[in-house]
Amino acid sequence: MNWFQRMMIGRYGLDQLSKAMLILTFILLIISLITGLDIINALAVIVLALAYIRILSRDTNKRHQENMKFLQWLNPISIKVNRNLNRLKEHKTYRFYKCTECGQQLRVPKGKGKVKITCPKCKNSIIKRT
Ligand SMILES: [Zn+2]
Repeated sequence: MNWFQRMMIGRYGLDQLSKAMLILTFILLIISLITGLDIINALAVIVLALAYIRILSRDTNKRHQENMKFLQWLNPISIKVNRNLNRLKEHKTYRFYKCTECGQQLRVPKGKGKVKITCPKCKNSIIKRT
């Protein structure tokens, strides 16, 4: 075993929350470089220190609970991000309209010329060129 493996015995190690904190540290450091604000630099150091405290912690139960809470908090955000990424991909092949009556989002394939789109929600139809 090397010194690193010996040091990590019984310690919690890296999880998603610590990884996110390390990424946040990196982002904060870049912001502090751009803005020259010491407070952001200090914040980056604090977040980095907290990440290391978590990684080297021996209270693995508590750290695991923290990580679970973080993942629960992150879940709705990642669903939203994924939905937006999908929409971005679909923009190549689809055109999006909003129903003039109820605001429902309508998706039509691109390049079909003039089409009548019927809203699935309120049956209102609009004519659009795609
Ligand atoms: Zn509608």
